[in-house]
Amino acid sequence: MRGGPTLGPEAFRALAHRAVDLAADHLAAVTGGAVFVPMTPDERAALLQQPLPESGADPQQLLTAVRKQILTHPMGNGHPRFFGWVNSPPQPVGIVGDLLASTLDPSCAGGDHAAIYLEHAVIRWLMELVGYPTQGAAGLLLSGGSMASLTALAVARHRALERLGHDVRAEGIQGVDAPLVLYQSSEGHSSLRKSVELLGLGSDNLRVIPAGRDCRLPVPALREAIAADRAAGRHPFCVAAGGGTVATGAVDPLDEIAEVCAAEDLWFHVDGAYGGFGVLDEGVAPRFRGLERADSLALDPHKWLSVPVECGAILVRDAAAMRAAFSLVPAYLRTEPEQGFGGLPWFSEFGFQQTRGFRALKLWMVLAASGREGVAAHIGHGIRLARELADRVRAAPDLELFGEPPLSIVCFRHRGSDDLNRSLMHRLQEEGRVFVTQAELESRFWLRACILGDATRESDLAVLVDEVRRLGAQLEERE
Ligand SMILES: *Cc1c(COP(=O)(O)O)cnc(C)c1O
Repeated sequence: MRGGPTLGPEAFRALAHRAVDLAADHLAAVTGGAVFVPMTPDERAALLQQPLPESGADPQQLLTAVRKQILTHPMGNGHPRFFGWVNSPPQPVGIVGDLLASTLDPSCAGGDHAAIYLEHAVIRWLMELVGYPTQGAAGLLLSGGSMASLTALAVARHRALERLGHDVRAEGIQGVDAPLVLYQSSEGHSSLRKSVELLGLGSDNLRVIPAGRDCRLPVPALREAIAADRAAGRHPFCVAAGGGTVATGAVDPLDEIAEVCAAEDLWFHVDGAYGGFGVLDEGVAPRFRGLERADSLALDPHKWLSVPVECGAILVRDAAAMRAAFSLVPAYLRTEPEQGFGGLPWFSEFGFQQTRGFRALKLWMVLAASGREGVAAHIGHGIRLARELADRVRAAPDLELFGEPPLSIVCFRHRGSDDLNRSLMHRLQEEGRVFVTQAELESRFWLRACILGDATRESDLAVLVDEVRRLGAQLEERE
């Protein structure tokens, strides 16, 4: 028998060295290759239909298969001209962190081992980085922004029902006289709606307030919606504000929303999955005023910070509220502080997961290797390039800019029809010189470029604009 279980230390060293060589070669070659290469039907079938092997293979041969079949078809996000969705290239130090994390392979549910203290430290670092209060607060690393917001809304729901005299953990939401209502702008992220659905609140009770032209939540309309729900006997309980929306990077008026939440006794959640780290840029920091007042803040280090996926985070101002919403310690897991495997209260009491991965190491590697200054410079780079791209779009007579980019996302389009722009996007993706995705704004189709990578340069923006104009002209001729 051959395979993982019998791999001795020296065989592991040889295999891992070769894997590192593959990784390094891949990273070195990324920039020179296509951004994205569509897979052929045969290539898809080779992966999809491969049979379960009866006997084990030589791991060295598996590396060869990885080199030929896997590394040849990346998603594209490692490339400096990948501007799609919110998917950054991985930081090399983060990749190394991932390797070492699985070398230890602890469960970060809790206990008295290094991984736990490192996670507590990086959670505090995240708080300090974005100016969130650390005293009495708690946080968790999670798979991403979706789980972060779901976790936060579970705490918000627990607190709101407690105030109405209900124990949601025992009763569910079955016994409540009227629905709890959550507010979000029309530019808010779909993960909030999924959370509302999963938490049994029902998306009928998600008030979607139409965003203004600036894609921000209009506070007067929010106040009116809350008043209307109260008048109808419903229970407003939470506002989910955007700290950098996914379509344009708009930052809701956080300070004013915090004011409304304080006056109305609502949970103030900020979805900063993409944009929260924008607060590190001095120029745009004033837009984030009020972030520090959030009851909960979702951040995604696997987006703008380039920590390898998955690495999301939720920060909650009131640690006790978070623990009350989740803590359930069966006898087999009980420990005592300072005794045996004891230590700090377990992370598994503050969220849904029991066995938890060692996400902290890759995040710690990236933050420690950059320092606050390095992170700020990285964030500033994306913001500066987005402005540069906006200028280039403005200077092109056949292109239209949606508006001045608030953070590192630029939405623009060719002057042709929506159909032309959609075809243009598909052509750009298939041809592999640049990669953009889409946004729907004011019922029109826009090309959307999100700039996250350190390696992206002005010359890459020039290629993007040139390609859009060249293909746009070609498609226009055909229309
Ligand atoms: C990406 C994103 C999410 C979802 O986070 P995942 O990490 O994809 O789960 C939520 N909100 C915003 C604004 C995002 O950009």
